[in-house]
Amino acid sequence: MPQKTKHTPMMEQYLAIKAQYPDAFLFYRLGDFYELFYEDAINASQLLEVTLTSRNRNADDPIPMCGVPYHAARGYIDVLIEKGYKVAICEQVEDPKTAKGMVKREVVQLVTPGTAIETKNMDAKSNNYLSALVVANDHEFNLSYVDLSTGELKATCLTSKEDLINELSSIQTKEVVFENLDEELLQEELKNKLGVMISTQTTMVENAEFSYLTSEIEEEKTVAVLKLLLSYLSVTQKRSLSHIQKAESYIPTHFLKMDHYSKHNLELTSSIRNGQKKGTLLWLLDETKTAMGGRLLKQWIDRPLIQEAKIKSRQLIVENLMNHFFERTDLNEALTRVYDLERLAGRVAFGNVNGRDLIQLKTSLQQVPQLIDIIAIINDGEWDDLLIALDPVTEVVELIEHAIDEEAPLAIKDGGVIKDGYHEKLDQYRDAMRNGKKWIAQLEAQEREKTGIKTLKIGYNRVFGYYIEVTKSNLASLPEGTYERKQTLANAERFITPDLKEKETLILEAEEKSVALEYELFTAVRETVKQYIERLQKLAKTVATIDVLQSFSTISEKYHYIKPVMKQGTHEINLLEGRHPVVEKVLGQQRYVPNSVVMNEQTDILLITGPNMSGKSTYMRQLALTVIMAQMGCFVPAETAELPIFDQIFTRIGAADDLISGQSTFMVEMMEANQALRHATDRSLILFDEIGRGTATYDGMALAEAIIEYIHQHVHAKTLFSTHYHELTVLEESLQGLENIHVGAVEEDGEVVFLHKMMAGPADKSYGIHVAKLAGLPEDLLIRAAAILEKLEKQEPVVIDVEQAPKMAIKTSVEQEPRLDILEEEQGQLSLFDSLNPNESEVIKALQT
Ligand code: ADP
Repeated sequence: MPQKTKHTPMMEQYLAIKAQYPDAFLFYRLGDFYELFYEDAINASQLLEVTLTSRNRNADDPIPMCGVPYHAARGYIDVLIEKGYKVAICEQVEDPKTAKGMVKREVVQLVTPGTAIETKNMDAKSNNYLSALVVANDHEFNLSYVDLSTGELKATCLTSKEDLINELSSIQTKEVVFENLDEELLQEELKNKLGVMISTQTTMVENAEFSYLTSEIEEEKTVAVLKLLLSYLSVTQKRSLSHIQKAESYIPTHFLKMDHYSKHNLELTSSIRNGQKKGTLLWLLDETKTAMGGRLLKQWIDRPLIQEAKIKSRQLIVENLMNHFFERTDLNEALTRVYDLERLAGRVAFGNVNGRDLIQLKTSLQQVPQLIDIIAIINDGEWDDLLIALDPVTEVVELIEHAIDEEAPLAIKDGGVIKDGYHEKLDQYRDAMRNGKKWIAQLEAQEREKTGIKTLKIGYNRVFGYYIEVTKSNLASLPEGTYERKQTLANAERFITPDLKEKETLILEAEEKSVALEYELFTAVRETVKQYIERLQKLAKTVATIDVLQSFSTISEKYHYIKPVMKQGTHEINLLEGRHPVVEKVLGQQRYVPNSVVMNEQTDILLITGPNMSGKSTYMRQLALTVIMAQMGCFVPAETAELPIFDQIFTRIGAADDLISGQSTFMVEMMEANQALRHATDRSLILFDEIGRGTATYDGMALAEAIIEYIHQHVHAKTLFSTHYHELTVLEESLQGLENIHVGAVEEDGEVVFLHKMMAGPADKSYGIHVAKLAGLPEDLLIRAAAILEKLEKQEPVVIDVEQAPKMAIKTSVEQEPRLDILEEEQGQLSLFDSLNPNESEVIKALQT
């Protein structure tokens, strides 16, 4: 920044303020514009596509400048925030008319990605969380997060970095606040892996309100991380935070745990292909009618339950709603009329509600008695808690009903917001205004009569106020005396009279006073509503819960789902004729082939063989999604279902592009496998799709076999393992807990058709040769292929000490006759692998970390 020239006082002020916000764009208010200078101007002009100009263009060193009109600033700020920048909004904090010298300016708000509310692209059904982190002893990650628009405040403690990253990515936080820069490595990692903004807050703000918010938390570190978060909020927002809800602390292990790979792979809330909602479980399940219901559904998908009693209580309500079609329809209709109570409450706290918002609030609250009535009819006891929590907040309804006009305009300072009859003085002013206007209409009639000028009219403009207008051709008929000429137009003259001016004063004074009084009354109403924020938020949560449960029942009925029998502590899966809910929705029920998953107490592993595109991964995902839905309390797509309650789900499911990319994908594959092998318990579910496919055939197969054995011996998680290594199917003979299943195929009109139907036993291994035959390859070649196949099949599988598995398996593979198709590619890989000490190879490392 150039320092040599002496700056004007205004630029001095600008530079002093900018120095406090070096990492934000400073929007400096100048009249009707926000101006940006120097680097800010250069960068913003590009990001916002606005013209870059300069201040004192003719000076030696002109200052780069660009500006946006203040009334359109919101949109520009949103753009910068969505691109991951911060914006400091600097306003004139005294009236320029009365200010002596420079007008005082201050930053009134620092908008950041985590504190932005209601930006254009923000989905009403998503939360925007700001997080804070306090790390202790390298393995204790105290996390808190808040949604500034809804006031939701949460805290938890994660015990590993992986868990932390899982949690941060599942809440999709955009910004993480640290106390200082000490955790540099972690900050870098979060930036790179999650694309979050890192912010720091070194000073802690002491505030009585904060103690209230954290009053129910005992753990010292949790309180510390909450205070860090709230301090950052109060420093950046500089406005009322009275809608922030009491902190709620939770323990992640109280929910079904899924790492972020699994959530991603299973497409729970965003699709792998384009990150959109379409095609995800959320997309399928979302029949919510309210914005807060939509947000809660997303949270439930992220955190399915693990307590049998809680799952059953949700199931009962879903069932109850399914049994009462008409009541459910009424309920849905009432819910449709409920606006975003949580965000309305937030706006009340910030003081930026208008009359229409309050009317929306009232309309929403007016649905509550109806919700109560409907639920009371169908309640068999399972609704008791929700019913009690349905608080109609009658005081607020009555207040708004009396005070706020149904047709209130968007603006709150121009009048028309407060209802007639609410306030005596206001009514008097309004009377004066109305009477005055009536009087003016009468005067117009009188004047016409008196002068005989039929076209005479009384009008109003801002410059002269009320006037009498007479066209030029009629001027002669106007009597002398009281008419004072004010303005001459092309074909008319405008006059005033003392009488007219006297009434005008009364009318205008009444108007001015009534507008001021209205604003005062409106503010008072808003302040009163503010006292009910906590009750409104509780109600919002209750309505959200009801909405999600109704969504479950709507979906369950629409797609003919059934109530799964959930049993804690069992190790049996009996899912009969199950369907993949999303694929079924896309394909239509007729075209989807149902499949059962049956695993008794002893069966740990189902080894699934079958060609590509036959439906293996769909089958695996089907089970995972069914489990998640079941543990959320939703019904599931099947004929009947008996499921254990799982503690964790791990997946390694390849995306289509995995096939083409190379080693890095294999590394990811191994890392995902590692997560599962290290953390799964005998109550977990593991889905491994084509493990080992990302590397050379031999080590891929060796790893696959070793992984299966490891699960079988040490983990005992229920595991679905799909593979194209047909060789692995013989493991059934040696591993008691492993069963082969395969996808059936038939030949139809000279083509192989996959039935998408799972069947017992291994797949027909000669299917490849079969296809080759159909394709018309030379007979000799096919006979030779069959012979090689037979030879390969005679190789005994290697069932060996698990510790040694990778190395031994490779040795065995070397001994056997190499397969023709893989010969070239494999040999390079093999020699490389052999020359390494396996313990140092990347693969082994990946398995050990
Ligand atoms: P694989 O994992 O064996 O390569 P996929 O599970 O990806 O195969 O399935 C391939 C395609 O087959 C899917 O895109 C899906 O449309 C279809 N499909 C899979 N399972 C079924 C089923 N049970 N019923 C109908 N279509 C299915």
